[in-house]
Formats: sequence, structure tokens, C-alpha cells
Amino acid sequence: MKKVLLLGSTGSIGVNTLDVIRNFKDKFEVFALTANSNIRLLSEQIEEFNPKFAVIKNEDKFDDLKNLVSGNCKILSGEQGLIEITKNGDYDILLSSLVGFAGLAPTIESIKRGKRIALANKETLVAAGAIVMNLAKKFNAEILPVDSEHSAIFQCLVGEDVKNVEKLIITASGGPFRTLTLNDLHQVSVEQALNHPNWNMGNKVTIDSATMMNKGLEVIEAHWLFNLPKSKIDVVVHPQSIVHSMVEFVDGNIKAQLSLPDMKLPIQYALTYPERLKSNYVNTHFPSLKELSFYEPNLEKFKCLQLAFDVMEQGGTAPCILNAANEIAVEKFLNKQIGFTQIAKLIENSLNEININPIVDFETILECDRQTREISKRFN
Ligand code: MG
Repeated sequence: MKKVLLLGSTGSIGVNTLDVIRNFKDKFEVFALTANSNIRLLSEQIEEFNPKFAVIKNEDKFDDLKNLVSGNCKILSGEQGLIEITKNGDYDILLSSLVGFAGLAPTIESIKRGKRIALANKETLVAAGAIVMNLAKKFNAEILPVDSEHSAIFQCLVGEDVKNVEKLIITASGGPFRTLTLNDLHQVSVEQALNHPNWNMGNKVTIDSATMMNKGLEVIEAHWLFNLPKSKIDVVVHPQSIVHSMVEFVDGNIKAQLSLPDMKLPIQYALTYPERLKSNYVNTHFPSLKELSFYEPNLEKFKCLQLAFDVMEQGGTAPCILNAANEIAVEKFLNKQIGFTQIAKLIENSLNEININPIVDFETILECDRQTREISKRFN
């Protein structure tokens, strides 16, 4: 029986994770659940899964949550509660699906305890990849990707030597605006950007998909996870989202991982690896797929993807600046304070304005994140 600490249980990945656990109640138990502010759903989850602890990040909701929950689940709150539970809790697997930079500190606490980290929070590796991977090595913590592309690559690499990799080929759906012109992009609304063709996800990652920043963040994530340089990572647009990514080896052979899109597949794999357990989430029927197509990404139209390639080249704190500025830009776009194409502009301005520090330690990253947020809030 493995005990799971689920950070971000009321988001899309969190809900899917609980669906997986519901199927394997003899293999997994929920040790703790955490949520930002959705106390209604969190209390239902506590009722069903009976965790020992729950953390509500928004402290104002603490009393309301306590009133909703009966039984003996202990409730903590705030950032402090998240750190407390990851640092001292009795669990085997941390599934981190927090959104943004907020996922970094609790993930590090868990790495320091040598836990299995099922990582859905890509911003952690983007902002602090060197720190996270070094600590994971030092403390013998396994990092298993939950992102579908990275899970695909991870699965293709089982039994292989990374030395023999010629290229990682990361697929991208291209998002809802794949076929629009750059001119059309100036006009798109928040509602259009939130309407992803293949995946049903939270707001932040859905907007990131529409700008293709999501793919940029995933390239940086792949660089750290698989310890490969930028020159060995390609992006290809694949609108059907059936091939979740591929690995080309030095001898020209290519392995791919395919299925109908459903996040429960990579989530389950991260929880059960190296085992595979029987499930029936999807039925991938090739004749009804009819066509799988592939295109070059348009870096002029999707500037965010180009910016992500650029910051990898720059190194140091550049990816941390990109990440923080993007979080601010997405928030502003969702609040209708800036237009869609201003997202890339705001990030570019932040990268030009803020000095890139070549040294990356935890304090530098925290300060860089804080400073970038402060400065990029002023841009529009
Ligand atoms: Mg992904």
C-alpha cells in the first residue's frame, strides 16, 4: 500500500489523480490532500478518501473548511501548512500538481526526504531545474514526469541508454489558434483562448497552450529531466494529440508513445512505475483516427516558444524570469488587462529589463522570481 500526498487535489490533474486512485484502492491510499481555495470540492474529496491531513492554502477559507468536514482529518492552512506536510508527513509518493512557481518549495522539501515525486508542476523545473535535479540526485529521490509529453519520452527511454539518444521529439497540439494568422491573433478573446481543442485543463496551462509557451516550458523541462542539450530537443506540431512524444536514437530508430489523450494514463504510470496496472480509460481505435499529421511550429506567430528557446541559450536565471513574467502576463490576459499578443511582449520586456544572474541557487531564484513579478506587473 503506497501513501500519496496530493498537492493541488481540486485542479484538473488532482481530480484525475483521484480517479486513478479510486480504481486501485488496494494499492494506494491518500495520505493528504491540498487545495488553494475550492473548499466545496476539497471537503467532498476528504469525505470520500478519508486522508489524515488536508491543507487549505487560502487561510481565509480555513474556518469554512473546518465547518464542512466531519471525522478526524486534521486541517492545516497556508504556505506553512504545505511545507509542514511535505517536510514531516508520513507518505511514499508526492504528486505535485500545483500551478506555477508556488510548487517549488514543497517539492524541494519532499526531494530532501528521498520520496518519489510524480511531477505535474513544470514551472518547478523551468525556474530551478539545476537545483531540483542536483537535490534529487543527492537525496536519491525519483522524479517521474506526469506531463504527457515527458511521460511519453520517459516510457520510450525505459531500457535505453540516454547516450544513444539522437533527439527528443516533443509533440504540440498547436492549441486553438494553430491555423490563425499573426494578425488574427491580435483580436482573440480570453474565451477563445480557453477553448483548447484536445485537452481539458486548468486556465494557466490552457492559455500557455494557446501561446505555445506551454511547449517552451516543456522543452526546458525535458532538458533538465533527461539531461540533454537544447540541440537535441525538437518540437513538432501534431494537432491530433495521439503521439505524445518520440525519441530518435543514433541508429535512426524512433520510438513513440501513443494513445487517445487522457491525463489518467501518464498519472497512473507515474504512480505505478515500473509496474503497469490494467485500466480502461481510453480505447485507441486506429481506423477511427484516420490521420496523424505533423507540421513545423511557426516561431514568428508563436513568439513565446522562441523566447523559451532563447532563455535556454542564456541560462542562469533567464528561465526563471521567463516563467515569472509569463505567470504575470497570463494573469493579466485572463483579467482582460492585456491582449493575447501582448503576453509575449510583456515577457520580452521583462527579459530585457532584468539582469540575468549566471549563478543559480535557491535564494537567487526566490529573489529573481520576486523581482520579476514586481517589474513585469508594471508592463502592459
Ligand atoms: Mg504537456
